[in-house]
Amino acid sequence: MAVPFYDHRKLYTRRKTEIDQAIFRVIESGCLDWGDEVPAFEAEFANWVGAAHAVTTNSGTAALQIALLALGIGRGDEVITVTNTDIGTISAIHCTGAESVFVDVDPATLCMDVAAVRAAIGPRTRAILPVDMFGQPAALLELGDLARSKGLVMVEDACLALGAEIGGRRIGTFSDITCFSFAPTKHLGSYGSGGACVTADAALAERMRKITAYGQDRARHRQIGRSPPPLHHETEGLNARLDEIQAAILRVKLPDVEESLAVRHHQAARYAAALADLVEVPSEVPGTRHAWRNYVVHLEERDRVREGLTARGIGSALSYAPPQHLQPVYAHKGFSRGAFPVSERSGDRLLGLPIGPHHDDAAINEVADGLCAAIRTLA
Ligand SMILES: *Cc1c(COP(=O)(O)O)cnc(C)c1O
Repeated sequence: MAVPFYDHRKLYTRRKTEIDQAIFRVIESGCLDWGDEVPAFEAEFANWVGAAHAVTTNSGTAALQIALLALGIGRGDEVITVTNTDIGTISAIHCTGAESVFVDVDPATLCMDVAAVRAAIGPRTRAILPVDMFGQPAALLELGDLARSKGLVMVEDACLALGAEIGGRRIGTFSDITCFSFAPTKHLGSYGSGGACVTADAALAERMRKITAYGQDRARHRQIGRSPPPLHHETEGLNARLDEIQAAILRVKLPDVEESLAVRHHQAARYAAALADLVEVPSEVPGTRHAWRNYVVHLEERDRVREGLTARGIGSALSYAPPQHLQPVYAHKGFSRGAFPVSERSGDRLLGLPIGPHHDDAAINEVADGLCAAIRTLA
């Protein structure tokens, strides 16, 4: 039995009627822009996460950039982040004009090493940008305390961690701004691209909402049936809004996220039981809830094992490897191997296995059996 890494069609089929209706509701309304779907989804999403305000964007990368811009971060500022992440984390920093400062990660969680952050803080540091890697929340309580004690802000990249928790509280209220992605294969996948920033701060939310929309107030575009007021620009921004059709689709999918997280937990436990004797399996930090966007094992003969899986028709992924400091785009920063050993060692050995509500138990068993067989073949 072949097991693809991801299966869009399976998820679509489950909710086809509602999704089709949502799409056509928007198209038939003729209200493709500045309609009611985006604000409705923002309210529902904020409520789901437990945050006061949600501002949607057209990607996770845009959400990160807009969060930093709204906090006034730009040229001359430094933002501390990690190198084992999506390039969007780092390019969002650079697109504001600020510089990134990399730190290594904790080998147990693959999330930002708190001691390394403390050592990296300098006179130009303005923000800490942790990533909840593969769905495991970073050490957000410790990092938040550190940020506050140094007068820094914290912007969290939770693009892989929707539904993750610390102490029974969902990710979204631990940082000044928490950013999510609605890329198709994330926990809450749009049928194109999308993202969101959530915050407790109403003024910050208002600034972010303006930045997503040319710098303009949304109310100025809601003049249906009346003559529009003359254009009046006080600020500039981007055009980085979520669109009405995606918002309508996400409204259908949001109520399924909790159940899909339970499925991911069940699958992670199944993998751990089947694989823990053979490979290094990931674990959940006590007191937290992992969101299991990725199930990533580590093994020495990674590339050969992966070939074995491919030969058996089983999909896998090298998620965020090699780390960004070794990518050609950041060669000018002058890093070589050895700069961030934990991130590098993980990048050399990690292998992401299929996980998510698009798979059933039979598929997970097939992957686990295939991985065991591929490893034994090498021995
Ligand atoms: C997916 C992702 C992003 C970027 O999100 P897009 O919606 O693809 O722009 C940023 N950071 C992390 C950790 C991600 O997984």
